[in-house]
Amino acid sequence: MTSIPADLPKTIGHWIGAELVESADGRTFANADPASNLVYCDVASGGAADVALAVTAARAAFEIGPWPRMSPRERGRVLHRIADAIEAREDRLATWESFDTGLPITQARGQARRAAENFRYFADLVNALHEDAFRTAAQIGYVVRKPIGVAGLITPWNTPFMLESWKLAPALAAGCAVVLKPAEFTPLSASLWPEIAEEAGLPAGVLNIVHGIGEEAGAALVEHPDVPLISFTGETTTGQTIMRSAATGLKGLSMELGGKSPCVVFADADLDAAVDGALFGVFSLNGERCTAGSRVIVEASIYEEFLARYAARAARIRVGPPQDPDTEIGALVHPEHHERVLGYVASGIAEGARLVAGGARPDALPDGNYLAATVFADVTPAMRIWREEIFGPVVAIAPFADETEAIRLANDTRYGLASYVWTSNLKRGHRVAQAIEASMVWLNSHNVRDLRTPFGGVKASGLGQEGGAHSIDFYTDSQIVSVALGDTHVPRFGAAPEE
Ligand code: NAD
Repeated sequence: MTSIPADLPKTIGHWIGAELVESADGRTFANADPASNLVYCDVASGGAADVALAVTAARAAFEIGPWPRMSPRERGRVLHRIADAIEAREDRLATWESFDTGLPITQARGQARRAAENFRYFADLVNALHEDAFRTAAQIGYVVRKPIGVAGLITPWNTPFMLESWKLAPALAAGCAVVLKPAEFTPLSASLWPEIAEEAGLPAGVLNIVHGIGEEAGAALVEHPDVPLISFTGETTTGQTIMRSAATGLKGLSMELGGKSPCVVFADADLDAAVDGALFGVFSLNGERCTAGSRVIVEASIYEEFLARYAARAARIRVGPPQDPDTEIGALVHPEHHERVLGYVASGIAEGARLVAGGARPDALPDGNYLAATVFADVTPAMRIWREEIFGPVVAIAPFADETEAIRLANDTRYGLASYVWTSNLKRGHRVAQAIEASMVWLNSHNVRDLRTPFGGVKASGLGQEGGAHSIDFYTDSQIVSVALGDTHVPRFGAAPEE
């Protein structure tokens, strides 16, 4: 049974110019709980008119408000207070997020903490922002980083609050005003931003939120002429649509897109750690994670032993109500996504992969979007479960004969986001890391990222990198001011010959 938090809102509105408002045309959409698929609240469904209001509020805050004019230290203080306000709401955030997304509550709690860390990290980083000066005998030039204006932020439904914080914190630290368009399937935790912003003393209009369907509210934000920059996280096909639309306004773009990341296990790996890492890599966050190590590639000499251990552990993974602290995999985000993931399971069976764990809804969970941890062995590169991002608790495992074949299989994907390598031979580990076409490699390590490091993907996994100083670069423009130090000797165009 799913437990419904007592304090859930019945309606969620847009947050525009520090006011909670309905959509201009009064439209709403329904939001349901993935563990039961019962609708529990109505959400304002925004369109071009609502986006226009939000951008106007953001522009006013940017052009005449205090936010971009504050010193970085002052803005940093507000960001720390946002982190305080997030921490003060950790229980509510974890409960609501788990309820709305279907993520296990223990993992939702971790995401809430990470959101606060994001704010603290960028609050401090902005104080250390590097600006520069260049001097010659004749002139001095100084380079300043100026906030770019109104940033459009579009986020997905997996770990929504954390990913919103991931964009909000650097954009605000840089001095931008923002319009956030949260994912339509998970609007609940975003409804806490207004009270967090007010408690922290963020000036009115700096943060605006327009809820709505991607093709309406999201598209309108991308098309708006007064939004010079879009930071997007979501599917590769959506990213392509946004890039086409953003080309008209030559907008700055950051694209964090899909993945189909390899996890390569060599025979000399610490097998206990590799099994742990390969399980966590794909089954944490319900498998709904962009960096999921969803293709596990194992050296042939240990293939059957690895598989036996892996499948036995996968079969014991506790699938259950998201709010149960013992749950390891909760409910997938919505019924269509559940059907889509089940479709991949059916395709794996039909295409001849060997199902060694899971493959169906657990008997004890007849309602809601549940699926047991599902493990396919002997997967070949022609199969859909090898090629396509499933974004659920389904893993494809295949053997490799030698290092060359391991690298070939690892790179046999249109994506290039994350990768994982397990070996006790460090020379080989570094060599394979260099050969893998992915922006992130975890060597004998799992998905833990230092906030100072860049994050992003290559190939169909994205464009540009955020994270650390890269994020501040993205939300700012460099401006160089060149100043003469003495008399200027400008070539005198058009002067009379005798002069
Ligand atoms: P999605 O692309 O369907 O939606 C993401 C956001 O884009 C939502 O807010 C949606 O409303 C909006 N949107 C949809 N169509 C739009 C349009 N035409 N114009 C503007 N906005 C539009 O993605 P999703 O299903 O919410 O999220 C899952 C995907 O996100 C997966 O592919 C996953 O790999 C990816 N993801 C990537 C990262 C990363 O950092 N690389 C992180 C998390 C998730």
